[in-house]
Amino acid sequence: MALFKKNIWSLYALIVLLTLILFAVLGVTKWQSNRNEFTEQQHLQVELFSSSVNSLLTSQEALLEVVGNHLAQQSDFTRTASFQIRPILDKLLDTHPAIAAFSLLNTQGNHLAVSSNLQLSSQKNLLQDKATKDSFLEAIASEKMVLGRTYYQKSLDSLVIPLRKSISIDGQSIDAVMTADLRLDSTIVFENNAHTGRFNTLTLLRFDNYRQFVSSDIDSLDAYLEPEGADLMKHITQSFVQQVGTDVNEAKTSKETYSFIINDEKYHALVSVKYIPDYKLWVIGQTDLTHVNSLFFTEFGILFIAFVVLQVSFYTLVKSIAKNEQRTRKKLIYQANHDPLTSLPNRLYMRRNIDKWVKNESEPFSLLFIDIDNFKCVNDTHGHDFGDKVLKQIALRLMRFRSRMSLVVRESSDKFLFLTPVTNESEIKRLAGRIIQVLSQPYEVQHAQFSLGCSIGIARFPEHGKDLDSLLRSADISMYKAKQQQNSYSMFTAAMQDAHLYKVKVEQRLRLAIEKQTLFMVFQPLVRTDKSVHGVEALVRWIDEELGFVPPDVFVPVAESTGLMQKLGAFIIESSIMQIAHLHRTTEQKIGLSINISVRQFSHQSFSDHLLATLEKYQLSPSCLTLEITESLFIEDVTVVKPIFEALKANDIKISLDDFGTGYSSLSMLKALPIDELKIDKSFIENIAVDQQSLTMVQNIIAIGKNFGMVVLAEGVESNEHFSILKACDCDLMQGYYLSRPIPYDELCHYLATTQVKKTELPLAPV
Ligand code: C2E
Ligand code: CA
Ligand code: CA
Repeated sequence: MALFKKNIWSLYALIVLLTLILFAVLGVTKWQSNRNEFTEQQHLQVELFSSSVNSLLTSQEALLEVVGNHLAQQSDFTRTASFQIRPILDKLLDTHPAIAAFSLLNTQGNHLAVSSNLQLSSQKNLLQDKATKDSFLEAIASEKMVLGRTYYQKSLDSLVIPLRKSISIDGQSIDAVMTADLRLDSTIVFENNAHTGRFNTLTLLRFDNYRQFVSSDIDSLDAYLEPEGADLMKHITQSFVQQVGTDVNEAKTSKETYSFIINDEKYHALVSVKYIPDYKLWVIGQTDLTHVNSLFFTEFGILFIAFVVLQVSFYTLVKSIAKNEQRTRKKLIYQANHDPLTSLPNRLYMRRNIDKWVKNESEPFSLLFIDIDNFKCVNDTHGHDFGDKVLKQIALRLMRFRSRMSLVVRESSDKFLFLTPVTNESEIKRLAGRIIQVLSQPYEVQHAQFSLGCSIGIARFPEHGKDLDSLLRSADISMYKAKQQQNSYSMFTAAMQDAHLYKVKVEQRLRLAIEKQTLFMVFQPLVRTDKSVHGVEALVRWIDEELGFVPPDVFVPVAESTGLMQKLGAFIIESSIMQIAHLHRTTEQKIGLSINISVRQFSHQSFSDHLLATLEKYQLSPSCLTLEITESLFIEDVTVVKPIFEALKANDIKISLDDFGTGYSSLSMLKALPIDELKIDKSFIENIAVDQQSLTMVQNIIAIGKNFGMVVLAEGVESNEHFSILKACDCDLMQGYYLSRPIPYDELCHYLATTQVKKTELPLAPV
């Protein structure tokens, strides 16, 4: 069934085959029934004809018997008898129009009397004539009426059958022979329409193979002069043996009618035969097979034409269905392979057709990974319908770069791929530059005008990947590089490849390290202006057996991008809280703890629950805890972040805004969110001693923080000079190598023992 669904032509072929078989069966049946019909018809014809002949002859025999007896009794068997008898014979002639003439003969073959239409003197002796001798002798010898050969009676201009009946007055010796000439043209039995048409013949054949009557040759004497039926009889005798399986003599006695086909060079006929034993006559019906067949072909021809017309119509129907189906299939394939929004080929199309591109390494090509910068903002600000319209315009612009040799694909929402045979570095860079230029042109959608940028990563086949996946990865890596600059392109390099491989390695090893818990925490003091310790920032450290020391700003982003952050974050929180809680218990120094929280961790549902449970577990007061969250987090929707911040705040946990000044936070956002602390990024502190602009920036940040009632912390304090300037600027807290490097727990304990720590409460935000 699946095969037929797949190909309607298979189903068509099967139906045609079945109908052909059916039609052939119909043809054979029709052929057979046509023959049977003719056979039956002829069978009936022969039966009817033989019974008519039989009854005609029987009635003639009875007539001859009665008349003959009557005349023989009256006759004196002399010449004079003719005068007495003639009137009687003439009268008989009047009442029996089928009889051409009557005569009475003595047993020596001489005519005693004849009807007056004959001349007695011209009548020959029947025993002396060769043609009549045998039948006359037979008539004398037989009790039955005997038929002489059919001959032409000139005076009557008619073919006649002589009928001879021996007459015995005493029932023992023969006294006379009564004869009558039966006119073939005057009895309804022997009419030439005894047959049904030119194709059909009825023959009465004598035992001596002379024809007694032949319906097709009723007027011609030639048909009766020779034993014409000999050959036919030979065929009939053979057919009895071969087709009926019986002997001809048996057939003579059976009174049955037999039908068969005689088909050779001479005869081509349907034959039915019956024997009339009383008069030793074969009744033979012959129907020309050519006629039978032609009738079949005429009738069947109409059916055949109808069949051909039906087949042609069926073929046309199937062809149109197949065409339709092909169109639908093509449409479905097109839909599956194309993006409905932009009509560009999609990822599936790309996967299916990439073989053509990557099959031959001697035919290099370039793959451009095009990502629209900040497209998410368009969707978020204007809605998805608007975004769709923009994407359509982007696709249209990209299509301008399409040629017969290149391919533009919509990879996913705002990511497009461009495959081109151009591989020359300067040419490809020019192309990428042109694409950026075209895509950066202002867009106008729903009367709004705006601009968008895009980042393009370029990878070349085969040097940057020998299959689609590795090429895409290379292009993606270089695109990531381009993204860092926005609205630019980047060509994949070996260094990127190395960095990628290193990243992969880091991921593998980090997974292992998290499992084996070989990572550890270090703590960097956060110091007040009077150099007393306010708290510590927990920083994670990893020294790998293979990779050696891996900085956290290398492996933390790897953990974030590979789904490892959840586990790593849990370890950091648990380990930091456990150690600082231990410090609180053992040294009575209630210093604060700041933990860096990654975006991934923060947005996880069970984050707060897990954090509070850990604090509870190690009996550390939530008021000692500050969560450092980098500014980039606030690109996320404020409405999402706000309730989480508020929930944390309700639990007495503080929030610190890390790396302040490097991101995008607006003043309104600072006001909207419950932030306790601002951490000025170390890149600002670096230059405060030498660069007035940096100093002014830091002073402004401090002022903003204080305005919003926040604690201000400066990180990257590397010298006494930094410290003094910041102190002068009224910065609340400081952190940096000048004060202490991040140190392990034991060292921290030692550090705290030698440093002044206010045993009192942690400082509240300055009012
Ligand atoms: P960050 O949160 O800004 O951490 C402060 C970084 O500044 C630390 O680098 C610290 O060692 C360094 N630092 C401190 N004082 C000075 C100084 O006087 N001069 C200079 N040049 N640097 C100083 P670190 O430990 O390598 O951490 C780098 C970044 O890795 C962190 O930046 C933070 O974003 C991330 N990170 C580190 N530990 C963790 C952690 O436990 N969790 C999360 N989520 N991120 C962490
Ligand atoms: Ca930090
Ligand atoms: Ca920082």
